[in-house]
Amino acid sequence: MADKKYLIEINHVGKKFGDLTVLKDISIKVKEKEVVVIIGPSGSGKSTLLRCINGLEKPTSGNVFFDGMPVNGEKNINEVRTEVGMVFQRFNLFPHMTVIQNLMLAPMKVRKISKKEAYDRGMSLLRKVGLEDKADYKPSQLSGGQQQRVAIARALAMKPKALLFDEPTSALDPEMVHEVLDVMKEVAEEGMTMVVVTHEMGFAREVGDRVLFIDGGVIVEQGTPDEVFNHTKEDRTKLFLSQVL
Ligand code: ADP
Ligand code: MG
Repeated sequence: MADKKYLIEINHVGKKFGDLTVLKDISIKVKEKEVVVIIGPSGSGKSTLLRCINGLEKPTSGNVFFDGMPVNGEKNINEVRTEVGMVFQRFNLFPHMTVIQNLMLAPMKVRKISKKEAYDRGMSLLRKVGLEDKADYKPSQLSGGQQQRVAIARALAMKPKALLFDEPTSALDPEMVHEVLDVMKEVAEEGMTMVVVTHEMGFAREVGDRVLFIDGGVIVEQGTPDEVFNHTKEDRTKLFLSQVL
């Protein structure tokens, strides 16, 4: 049985694509309101791991629980995706819809809330991310940083229990990175449970409760930001940090 006090439980997860082993025996438990930051080189399996949490990938071995429920089978996976928002590197807003329509769609369709409630919730979230005046714009009329703030607002509109971020600032021009990280920090401070894959070490240090360094599909090192960044134990972690800091 999955322990209830953990919102996300990853138990001995392995993942292969054909002959390629991408994840090897990964176990991570994330408590409610915890912010776990995952760092690691490109190709180390970070995205695959995140995708196993909401059922976008199926582990080859081991299992994942969300809020005590196994993440497998269509019914459970649909429920998990309702409760777990995901923000990707590339802004994945619906291009033919306005910003406010992007925010209203899933809450109306999936949560069955009224149009008025969806609108009010959407506008209040746009206010929160500083984009109330862009409600009627199309995504293409916004900067990358603004689109990513809309993507976060859209995820929040579903009132998720947890949010997953997969390198949310990697595709942004440098001057737009901070505005997205600021919104993420605010969301974390409000108590959202978050798993964040990022190369932004400042964010990891400041906002992360725990930092995990993944390389070659295994957790090489984990601890508080102070432990991982200031008292690094493993040579592989030291090498990686020397390259990104
Ligand atoms: P990261 O996010 O850390 O850069 P990924 O999880 O995206 O790493 O990828 C890890 C490895 O798995 C890479 O070698 C990648 O090419 C491979 N991979 C990812 N998804 C697939 C897939 N659907 N089919 C085959 N190989 C994949
Ligand atoms: Mg990735």
